[in-house]
Amino acid sequence: MSREILEHDYSYYVLNEPTVADVEYDAMMKRLRELEAERPDLITPDSPTQRVSGQVAEGFEEYHHKVPMLSLDNSYSIEDLRAWAKRCEKLAGGRAFDYVVELKIDGLSLALIYEEGRLARAVTRGDGSRGEVVTNNAKTIRSIPLRIKGRDGKKQSPLFDDSMKEVEVRGEAYLPTDAFRRINREREEAELPSFANPRNAASGAMRQLDPRIVAERRLNIFCYQLLFDGAPAFPTQHESLEWLAKHGFRVNQNNRYCKTIEDAVAFCNEWETRRDELSYEIDGVVVKINQVAVQEELGATSKSLRWAIAYKFPARQVSTQLLDVIYQVGRTGAVTPVAVLEPVLLAGTTVSRASLHNADEMKRLGVMRGDFVFIEKSGEIIPQVVKVITERRTGEETEFEFPTHCPVCGAKLVKPESEAVTRCPNPDCPAKLREGLLHFASRRAMRIEGLGVALVEQLTSPRTKRDKKGEVVTDEKGQPSQSPPLVRDAADLYGLAERRDELIALDRMGAKSADNLLQQIEASKDAGLARLVYALGIRHVGERTAGILSNHFGSIEKLSAASSEELANIFEIGDVVAASVHEWFKSSLNRKLVKRLAEAGVKMEMVSAGGQQVPRVFEGKTFVLTGTLPTMKRDEAKLYIESRGGRVSGSVSKKTDFVVAGAEAGSKLDKAQELGVKIIDEAGLLNLSRS
Ligand code: NAD
Repeated sequence: MSREILEHDYSYYVLNEPTVADVEYDAMMKRLRELEAERPDLITPDSPTQRVSGQVAEGFEEYHHKVPMLSLDNSYSIEDLRAWAKRCEKLAGGRAFDYVVELKIDGLSLALIYEEGRLARAVTRGDGSRGEVVTNNAKTIRSIPLRIKGRDGKKQSPLFDDSMKEVEVRGEAYLPTDAFRRINREREEAELPSFANPRNAASGAMRQLDPRIVAERRLNIFCYQLLFDGAPAFPTQHESLEWLAKHGFRVNQNNRYCKTIEDAVAFCNEWETRRDELSYEIDGVVVKINQVAVQEELGATSKSLRWAIAYKFPARQVSTQLLDVIYQVGRTGAVTPVAVLEPVLLAGTTVSRASLHNADEMKRLGVMRGDFVFIEKSGEIIPQVVKVITERRTGEETEFEFPTHCPVCGAKLVKPESEAVTRCPNPDCPAKLREGLLHFASRRAMRIEGLGVALVEQLTSPRTKRDKKGEVVTDEKGQPSQSPPLVRDAADLYGLAERRDELIALDRMGAKSADNLLQQIEASKDAGLARLVYALGIRHVGERTAGILSNHFGSIEKLSAASSEELANIFEIGDVVAASVHEWFKSSLNRKLVKRLAEAGVKMEMVSAGGQQVPRVFEGKTFVLTGTLPTMKRDEAKLYIESRGGRVSGSVSKKTDFVVAGAEAGSKLDKAQELGVKIIDEAGLLNLSRS
């Protein structure tokens, strides 16, 4: 079992891709603990119960924590929590104490180390004694002060002495729920596996080797621990939190000072019901003994602190029966199995559908029709099936056969060996057209409000032909004649203005809604290049990629003319995306669509905020950015260059045309001088674009 847990630890902490649900993992851990309690002679030093899980990922510098970053023991019931408080009383040797209770943020812990008041490094927990140095990534979190507010802050501590040099602030970096959902949506679009929870997503972000990617994830932090030269900074946790808030650190405002364990219990119960009010995920409450003297008396085990405990909320998991599986066809033709469930209440909403992702996932779970399953919500709106309760099988369950043919158009489905997704290859599949139109009109794409599922269904279906008097026209066999659908691709939407009468004639339409819709369609012509590129629904091109492509090329014309190599040479565009974009524009059908959209008046070029087209004065030029520019942030400078046709590279070479250097420029500046590359500052960059 020990080995199995270690395997799970690796998937969870290193790969950020857990393969079992947390409750299952916790149950395994509990069993191992019980086993070890019975047979202490079997405990090995590398048993998962003996150490903080986690490892240092490759590619990062290691740092030895001066004070180990330990985990917390879990309690799953209020009774456990009370028992813990009793134990603490016993161990405290008669000292009086009270508590500080804090929300347990579902993220990853970070140690921020300040030297002489400046952020010197940020380090992850790692295995508790050695962590990864992730300073540049941490700096992308805007709420982390680069310099501590109030230079003489330490002097407020009665424990301060003049020789103290280092201030260490520990906190939980996390992904707000909306950012988590956005990232998972983007990953789904790019056909990457989605993150199981915000914690895995946050930890995946913090260990990116490129801080630019981290910056886009919009992490944040709540700080909860303060050390001066490796020792607690104040006699109580409460004072440490006050100091942190006063000196520019973000402290969670819901923390509470509690006189008794019953007050702490009330706090746990309160937040168990209020957790959905927060814009971030919490998985419990941390109850901490307030007095440092008592904390020291209690000490720690090799894995966790004795003076603090996590009260974990029961998982948002319920069991229900899986009645059937339906197969939905998406706009790229991907066939997604969706579980149809006996409706059940989960975290405040009734759930009757859950995603099963793909055929491989169905196989991994081993679901059968009639099975009882656990479903879970973790920050996601769509619940997931996490486990089959095989103990509840009756023998009546039947196996599922993944369809071999498209459930909508009947075409034979394809599944490339290397991919998890099964796809309908028929370009004319009506499901693809409908989903494609919904995507085209969606809020992040062309934003045509009012173009919902029901209307798209009507617009893309053949209609019964009527004569001028409204009578149904019949064919020679007496059957009602059909007119072709009003819309057969996205460009047809722009022709609807000329077919207003036919539009009004649709079910539940009327003149007013038709005019509103037509107005929205008209307005969408100005959506801009990035939204348009996203709206086209090219495989692997999510919002972010669409932004990169439009900044780089500035117009659909240039984008469509780019070769795969040219596309793959763009920073942050991989070979798969490059090939997909190139393929898309190679198709004559797609080219025709773009041409018709352009003829309808859809803007095909990048425009500046003022509405004019940005001149592409940096075309063919390569820039390297280094140091801090006086007014522009790194991202802004990059956008400024790329939107004018230039390329921003990460390293200086002979091919670099300009190095834009700001304050505290590093080795890139030296390299530029060595190679004789032209060096300019921010003002120089702005001038260059005007010349
Ligand atoms: P933990 O997450 O249960 O608790 C410790 C952590 O809580 C700290 O390191 C800190 O990062 C965080 N924290 C958040 N708010 C805090 C606050 N206000 N004060 C102090 N700390 C705060 O412990 P862990 O060792 O990081 O992870 C263990 C858990 O991870 C398990 O219970 C399990 O559910 C999950 N896990 C799952 C798998 C899997 O395969 N599914 C594998 C490994 C671990």
